[in-house]
Amino acid sequence: MKTSIQKLRKYFRLEAKRGYDNEAVMGGIDNILPSWEGEARADNLPESVIQAVATRLRDYHRLSKESRQVVLQGLWKRIKRDPAIAAELKGEADAYKTPPTPDMSPQQEAKRTVPPVKSATTPPPEKKPIVESISVSPPQKALPAPPAPHPTIDLQASVAQLKGIGPKRAEDLKRLGIITLRDLLYNFPRRHDDYSSLKPIKDLRYGENVTVIGTVKSVTVRSVRSGKMKLAEAIISDKSGVLRVTWFNQPWIAKQLQQARQIVLAGKTEQYLGRLTMNNPEWEPLDTKFLHTNRIVPVYSLTKEVGQRWMRSTMHKAAKKLAPQVIDSLPAEMLRQAGLLSLSMALQHIHFPESLETLNAAKHRLAFDEIFTLQLGVLRQKHFWQGKTGRIFKSPNYWLAAQLSRLPFALTDAQRNALSSIRNDLISGHPMNRLLQGDVGSGKTVVAAMAMLAIAHHGSQVAFMAPTSILAEQHYESMRHVLLGPGSGLSKKDIGLLVGATPEAEKQTIKAKLAKGEIKIVIGTHALLEDSVIFKDLQLIVIDEQHRFGVKQRGTLRQKGDNPHLLVMTATPIPRSLALTIYGDLNASVIDEMPPGRQPVETYILYPSERERGYRLVHSELEKGHQAFIIYPLVEESDSIEEKAAVDEHDRLQKEIFPQYKLGLLHGRMSGNEKDAVMTKFRNGETQLLVSTSVVEVGVDVPNATVMIIEGAQRFGLAQLHQLRGRIGRGALKSYCLLIPGNTDAVENERLKAMIETNDGFKLAERDLKQRGPGQFLGARQSGYSELQLASITDIRLVEKARKYAQEIFAKDPELSRPEHAALANRIKNIWHEEDSKDIS
Ligand code: ADP
Ligand code: MG
Repeated sequence: MKTSIQKLRKYFRLEAKRGYDNEAVMGGIDNILPSWEGEARADNLPESVIQAVATRLRDYHRLSKESRQVVLQGLWKRIKRDPAIAAELKGEADAYKTPPTPDMSPQQEAKRTVPPVKSATTPPPEKKPIVESISVSPPQKALPAPPAPHPTIDLQASVAQLKGIGPKRAEDLKRLGIITLRDLLYNFPRRHDDYSSLKPIKDLRYGENVTVIGTVKSVTVRSVRSGKMKLAEAIISDKSGVLRVTWFNQPWIAKQLQQARQIVLAGKTEQYLGRLTMNNPEWEPLDTKFLHTNRIVPVYSLTKEVGQRWMRSTMHKAAKKLAPQVIDSLPAEMLRQAGLLSLSMALQHIHFPESLETLNAAKHRLAFDEIFTLQLGVLRQKHFWQGKTGRIFKSPNYWLAAQLSRLPFALTDAQRNALSSIRNDLISGHPMNRLLQGDVGSGKTVVAAMAMLAIAHHGSQVAFMAPTSILAEQHYESMRHVLLGPGSGLSKKDIGLLVGATPEAEKQTIKAKLAKGEIKIVIGTHALLEDSVIFKDLQLIVIDEQHRFGVKQRGTLRQKGDNPHLLVMTATPIPRSLALTIYGDLNASVIDEMPPGRQPVETYILYPSERERGYRLVHSELEKGHQAFIIYPLVEESDSIEEKAAVDEHDRLQKEIFPQYKLGLLHGRMSGNEKDAVMTKFRNGETQLLVSTSVVEVGVDVPNATVMIIEGAQRFGLAQLHQLRGRIGRGALKSYCLLIPGNTDAVENERLKAMIETNDGFKLAERDLKQRGPGQFLGARQSGYSELQLASITDIRLVEKARKYAQEIFAKDPELSRPEHAALANRIKNIWHEEDSKDIS
């Protein structure tokens, strides 16, 4: 038997003997993981098994003894399901009839989820199958055998090639962005309704995402908020109980509901006046066909013309007919090692899975593909840039010291280190590719400014891009402060500002000067990306808050120069391992030290009933001439409803609470120009209190703002709260942050306490990662990789796995010229084709 399996069995047996006290291994059983995973890989155990072991043992120490027993037994069962391992164990089955994992006949096994245990030292097993709730990723067994090879088809052909899709339907699908057969296959369901594990209404709990089937008992529509909003309310019942369901501002739903009798609801359970309810769940009439035939049913995005039924049957055809014919670009050997489904299989099961396990395996494979191709592309980019020549820009010590002496402060050590790495990059002879990471307020800008000066000083040009006009203007002001002065060699006319709102005539002038090389440093927004912006000699690109830009935008800017140097900056505190993966093509510098003299923001959690106290604090700060923020969350699922509509609250606060002050209002539905106008007024002190949704996140510097109230704080991640809090405490003034959760949920409020305990963005990010899981830790919007359909760039385990395989292939065959990589080479070429010589990094 393989030693890794032998070891596990030894520990499991010992644990069982000791009554699951987690002492079989010194320091706890999860201690074996780091070395065991390595051994298991050396033993060639399937990745799915390794992952299953890792997932379950990692949390073992937190479990009760009863749960531990169930977990170990379930895990052993899982391991034995692997055919290779099962074969090896078979010969020894007789010798292994003692706990923890007695072998059972299939019938017995079907009857109980938890095998009985004879050992006297162990308590009886729990009734609930805990194992079921622990996800196994990715399962390998229990999947049907791969289909026989089919003749391949051209996936770039029009959808009209599929039987049953005529010109009219092809037109309809186009509106969903589905044009080719490939588009159709990759039109993944929005969700699946699992008809096999529906919840009876009486078993629903607060805060769960569930699917419920019920009968519509009654429907009413009424107006609230003096007619401003319409509520459609339905009472849904199944045999076990009734549930009140509410839809806001969708009165037409009432009519649709009256026509449907039985419906399927999917959404999150919430609480209202002590009762469970659902707000704005997704729903549709029950398609009884699926109740008996398919147990897990895909639900697709639709348009007015395309109904769910037609879509499903079309997708069914596509999955059946097309999926088996696609060519898998991953080499078979890699699929085996990584425990991945074949592409054909994955594309079938992502639409019509046989079980949740196969669905997860399909998602895993397709998400793996996305990250893997991204990683391979990134590696090739790095390779590409390393082969290029970059111009050399020297910034001698005496020169730099003179520049720094103009600053009103000394650089911190961390700033110094970052700057010295940058200076080395600039004389390396290759284009710099550096990521500068540092918490809000850590002083990234001045580091970038010194690099910019080194370029401009030699007569070459720099482009500095920020995500919003207000930030660009702010940088423009501060750069003029930092960069101009005796000895800098620059004058006012060398620095330009180009944003969307710049008057057309002025834009023309600036563009002309850039083309002639008369402006050395241009600071701007997306406006810099326009084709008409041409440089004479662009040698350095700096991108601020880089997570707000896509990879393509970086490329566009880079193309405007001849192998220019690149510096990107971010305040998003991503743990280092993750940063390396996402920015695999970049060298990273971290500013992990705050400038001296900063007073940490004092943070408090207030109960909703203590809101008045918060207002009093705001009053007293405003009286001192300081400024304040009040932040309201967006409901994530829909941007049309805000938990406490910032708009309404703004009116109320202005009239009833702060009548003597001027209040500004900022929310996501305003245009960029409107937002900028509001921010500018606030920064200039024309408004004293800014009521805002979370759109205020990005690096705006208003040192005079000293207090922030965050309403509905439980809705935010710690990392996001930290970003918000970073808007205050930016000067020498003492600042306060008050978190007001929308409810008194003890667990949530416990989580918020981390905000009181630390001001360190990295620590908070890591806690967030632990508590909420990687998927939630950064929104997709933040990652800058909106190209990803299924994968989350923050699913660390997936990202690392994909990265490992990408590196392996790249190391073995960087040109992808081996026959087993032919399909992969083709695919990468297709994906990056339009980029061709362009930079995608
Ligand atoms: P961020 O890293 O968030 O972009 P900034 O570059 O905007 O931070 O810096 C925040 C503030 O700290 C600015 O007002 C800047 O002038 C100031 N600052 C930067 N470095 C130092 C330093 N070494 N000592 C004191 N203040 C500094
Ligand atoms: Mg900044």
